[in-house]
Amino acid sequence: MERVYNFASGPACMPLPVLEKAASELVCYGSSGMSVMEMTHRSKDFMDIIQEAEKLLRELMNIPANYKVLFLQGGANLQFAMVPLNLFKNKKADYVITGQWAQRAMAEAKKFGTVNVVASSEDKVFNYIPDLDKIAFSKDADYFHITLNNTIFGTRYTKLPEPEVPLVTDWSSGILSEVIDVSKFGLIYAGAQKNIGPAGVTVVIIRDDLIGRAMDITPTMLNYKTHADDGSLYNTPPTYSVYMSMLVFEWLKGLGGVPAIQKINEEKAALVYDCLDNSKLYKGTVVPKDRSLMNITFVTGDEGIDKKFIKEAKSAGLVNLAGYRTVGGMRASIYNPMPMEGVQALVAFMKKFEYENK
Ligand code: PMP
Repeated sequence: MERVYNFASGPACMPLPVLEKAASELVCYGSSGMSVMEMTHRSKDFMDIIQEAEKLLRELMNIPANYKVLFLQGGANLQFAMVPLNLFKNKKADYVITGQWAQRAMAEAKKFGTVNVVASSEDKVFNYIPDLDKIAFSKDADYFHITLNNTIFGTRYTKLPEPEVPLVTDWSSGILSEVIDVSKFGLIYAGAQKNIGPAGVTVVIIRDDLIGRAMDITPTMLNYKTHADDGSLYNTPPTYSVYMSMLVFEWLKGLGGVPAIQKINEEKAALVYDCLDNSKLYKGTVVPKDRSLMNITFVTGDEGIDKKFIKEAKSAGLVNLAGYRTVGGMRASIYNPMPMEGVQALVAFMKKFEYENK
């Protein structure tokens, strides 16, 4: 059977060379005589894998030495709670609300303290990134939280806020897609299942001074210090997902790293946005200046035609193009592993569909 082009928002497509390499090592990894899945996490072979994964991620993102890299579990959803539990002192934080994930993050923080909503784009169904007025920033906040790329609504920040307190971001759907300056952040977290690898790993990049100050009620497993002190090996990590992440990092490094993939991502996104902008059938849902490079959302304005589009695309080998379940319309998630050919095939299909449905 032929592989399809998978535009899912996550878990999402993986680089084919990574899958092939994993397949070739599935039964016997190196000279271990066993699969990575069968290895104890305390073995030298696995220690080498997790350390190599960290080394590669540090290199790819240019992570400064005063930051720890943690491979955790529980997804970004658990980070929504871990962030306040670990960073609250004054028990107050600033949140910018740019979609459902930001709302969920805020809801968890509210369980442990006070949240100040700096700005929200809910008035226009989150189709833009709000301007941020420094007057609305709290001086005594423990941190300032943003969702850098909004998977569901298809927006992304192109300019970072500059709060005086640590900037914390959920970068689940954008990590490694473009160059950022890690030193501008106190903490970055991301579920792996979009740009990093299979589900199961959550990457946390945290500045040293934010570790070791968790609230007393924090369970051991939810304390960043627990994992930082033990090299992410306090308990059994998702070993196979860490290994797959390492292979994805190697693949990305081989392509030329983040600057190289950013260029490709910009080209891929431009192909789809150009198609939307030149179409009489499709409408991009996001204001152009805030468009995501990773998640492209669009509608035809007619739900019946949207459904037809999704169904016919599937028959053409272009799958998972339906928008988020509460939003509808279409969404093409084009993460790092989505090849240019996949995007070209999508655009060709969009043009053909438009011609046939004029
Ligand atoms: N934040 C963002 C920006 C996401 O895209 C997602 C998943 N789609 C989540 C959080 C939730 O992640 P998880 O399922 O890993 O908890």
